[in-house]
Amino acid sequence: MDAIVLGGGLMGTASAYFLASRGVRVTLIERARIGAGATVASFGNIRRSGRHLSQLPLAARSLAIWNEAEVLLGRDVEFRPTGHLRLIFDADSLEDMRTYVQAANAQGLILDELDTSELHARFPGIGPDAIAASFSPRDGSANPRLIGPAFADAAVRAGASVVEEAPVLDIRTTAAGFELETAKGNFQAALLLNCAGAWGRSIAAHFGEDVPLETWGPQMAVTEPLPHRIAPVVGVWSQAHGAYLRQVERGNVIFGGAVDRVRVEAEPGYAKPDPARLPAQVAAVIKLVPALADVAVIRQWSGCEGYVADALPVMGPSSTTPGLFHAFGFCGHGFQLGPGVGSAMAELIATGQCETPLDEFAITRFAA
Ligand SMILES: Cc1cc2nc3c(=O)[nH]c(=O)nc-3n(C[C@H](O)[C@H](O)[C@H](O)COP(=O)(O)OP(=O)(O)OC[C@H]3O[C@@H](n4cnc5c(N)ncnc54)[C@H](O)[C@@H]3O)c2cc1C
Repeated sequence: MDAIVLGGGLMGTASAYFLASRGVRVTLIERARIGAGATVASFGNIRRSGRHLSQLPLAARSLAIWNEAEVLLGRDVEFRPTGHLRLIFDADSLEDMRTYVQAANAQGLILDELDTSELHARFPGIGPDAIAASFSPRDGSANPRLIGPAFADAAVRAGASVVEEAPVLDIRTTAAGFELETAKGNFQAALLLNCAGAWGRSIAAHFGEDVPLETWGPQMAVTEPLPHRIAPVVGVWSQAHGAYLRQVERGNVIFGGAVDRVRVEAEPGYAKPDPARLPAQVAAVIKLVPALADVAVIRQWSGCEGYVADALPVMGPSSTTPGLFHAFGFCGHGFQLGPGVGSAMAELIATGQCETPLDEFAITRFAA
């Protein structure tokens, strides 16, 4: 069995690794450098709380792999299960959180509820207006710059070929499967996996499958390095798009959320943050950790991410073309899912079935 994986972000590199580990002959083709798409721009949140319930089995599969990543990949990708704290500032959000917790419990996600005194005793320095929180002790974060190259190198060790700086210019179906024309020559395989991220829509469209996907960029920023004081990832339960932050071991505090995403043209796909939105973002962050009021923000960035109309990814076989599979459009929350996506897609492609339910992500949901 041989396969081409198109796109060398987290989904493509993880899929290549798990396919090669199952004995599939894999060629991974990336138009730029491995991991340089949405993956490198990620905040790095390994968060299950608040996810659409249909994603929780996949998120659980992924978390198990994050826990083994250092052994599996032969290097530290800075996965740290520091816990994920989500603050609550009003009674409605507390109600929302409790409703979610009940439903999520049934899917195996256990969230601890912290009342006001427990929250402030356990996490001194958290915003005084927070009345409660949920805490997910096994979640955390990892380094978005390390994970793509780590999976790609592990895939090569497992027998895959990785071709960088090779934009796929055309795809033809042949009697034997697929032929991809790239800037570095033509490649053939019986199977093709579309992991082109925000650009996955155009690959699917090439095969007559229309997905309502738009390209947007979440806006991120980072502070100067500070003494290390914040262990968990911190976010908010809110109907609005709340702020979130984490402090990396080198001391910088990375933050995002609380402001609208920036519009990104899919071509060339360069996402530019809007400095005018920074003050509102900083104000939201200070509400979570007031001690951040006087620190310098040293950099802003964004990344080109694919957002599907129903906020769910596209995963599974093509509805038009035998041998074609899709895994794209992760709507700003694919970082946590990435290793699980790779492992699930490899299982599906190699065996024809997947123990993790993927039906809700089928491309056929847009056929009507
Ligand atoms: C700023 C930002 C913050 C985020 N924060 C989080 C977070 O905290 N937690 C979380 O879970 N998720 C987060 N996400 C989402 C997460 O990063 C993405 O969902 C995930 O990285 C998507 O991976 P991917 O492999 O599908 O896409 P990508 O990493 O974009 O990879 C797709 C690859 O396909 C390649 N490609 C496209 N077209 C072609 C072609 N024609 N030929 C060859 N190659 C091609 C691209 O060059 C690219 O490298 C964030 C995203 C952004 C942008």
